[in-house]
Amino acid sequence: MLAGAIFALSLTGLPVYGQSSSASSSSSPASSVAVTSVAVSSGASAVSSGATSSAAVSSSNTEATALTFSLTVTNPTAVPLASITANETSLPTIPLPSTATPGATNTFISGAPALPNPTSIVSSNYPTMDKVPPTDSDEVQQWIAEVAASGITIPNITQTVLGGCPANAEAAADTSRCWWSCTGCVRDTDVQECPDKLTWGLTYDDGPSFYTPNLLTYLTANELHATFFCVGSRGVQFPATLQEEFMAGHQVAVHTWSHPYLTTLTNEQIIAELGWTKKIMKDVTGVTPNMMRPPYGDIDDRVRNISIAMGLTPVMWTRMNATATFDTDDFDVHGGLASSYGVLNNWENIITHANEIDTGFIVLEHDLFEETVQLATGYILPSAMNQSFDIKPVISCLNKPMSDAYIETNDNSTNPPAASGAVTLSSGAPGSASATGAASNSNSNSGVGLKVSGTSTAFTLSGIFALVALFL
Ligand SMILES: [Zn+2]
Repeated sequence: MLAGAIFALSLTGLPVYGQSSSASSSSSPASSVAVTSVAVSSGASAVSSGATSSAAVSSSNTEATALTFSLTVTNPTAVPLASITANETSLPTIPLPSTATPGATNTFISGAPALPNPTSIVSSNYPTMDKVPPTDSDEVQQWIAEVAASGITIPNITQTVLGGCPANAEAAADTSRCWWSCTGCVRDTDVQECPDKLTWGLTYDDGPSFYTPNLLTYLTANELHATFFCVGSRGVQFPATLQEEFMAGHQVAVHTWSHPYLTTLTNEQIIAELGWTKKIMKDVTGVTPNMMRPPYGDIDDRVRNISIAMGLTPVMWTRMNATATFDTDDFDVHGGLASSYGVLNNWENIITHANEIDTGFIVLEHDLFEETVQLATGYILPSAMNQSFDIKPVISCLNKPMSDAYIETNDNSTNPPAASGAVTLSSGAPGSASATGAASNSNSNSGVGLKVSGTSTAFTLSGIFALVALFL
């Protein structure tokens, strides 16, 4: 899949990080930046005026160059949509809203252990970043033995090859393997939505990154909390940011070590990917997450049961059918495969679908790139708050305390660990058992093109800090 290729390129060469690092280190403190109300009309007349764009509806997300609906609310300091592109100049990041103190305890979690010192994180103690870890290490061998002793049967399902459904016709036709990204199949152990209608289990994947502090500042200013599905390699790179996510009341969860398509890996490699991510997150936060999200949604019963055997409940994003997924496609803006307009058109479809279904929902977004954070803080979150969605982390949308999100602080009373075979994290919502859809690697909402008009409403930012540095 193209997204995978772009991701690999970005991380292999680290062009984003290298460029951003320079900008970050040379940036002025945010407090020195004048807060300017920036019109969002530039190149996005529909946003500022509330009028529906008259531009032709694009037939593809990747080609969308205009909004096909009106955003009723935007952040007045939002970066203009026309400027949120793959070619935009890398802008400075802002400092973390606060820095956690080693030894402090998380006030959102009863019984949380003392916070480790992030300076204790030494990259040489971990596998090479952004590569599938070797499986012959003592750590991985121990985790392999633990999975074997878990009592969870790992089905003998063949590995797939890169390329998704089109490249794996036989696997795609084998519905018994319950390959979510190919057929939409979910098991009762999967979380794919929140149980309560209009409740949004807010998630961000692939961080922490240089731009995560921008998002954290906005979330804090608006008293919002999210679930961050973290890449283990990024935890080594940004331990202080991961700590701040955790200490600020957000949920942190596993998103693998090197972001591979998990169904393409051996059992041992999957164990290494998940195990090292669990370990770095415990080393940084003091606790071990008990939720995971497979990169690209690439999970089948083999990956699923290995995850469960390792105490990790899979969390997907809401999927009504093959063409109505709750995926903003924000990731693809950075690679030039999607436009900011296309993302917001997808978001509008998500709003429509969220109002149609009987349950709450979970959306795929990312905190890896500046484009994705700009879209989240400038447009998607302001719009969501105006929709009166009840926005919370996944563990909270399941009506469980934050302490249930970690192996060490989960008291098992309302949330038995996945490996016990008595998983209760799943919402059990109607329709969650077996979403159906044609075998396809498409997970976009392209072509839906709903037109929705609305009344323009001024959005007042409750904090003045959001994204000010982005106008440097
Ligand atoms: Zn991801």
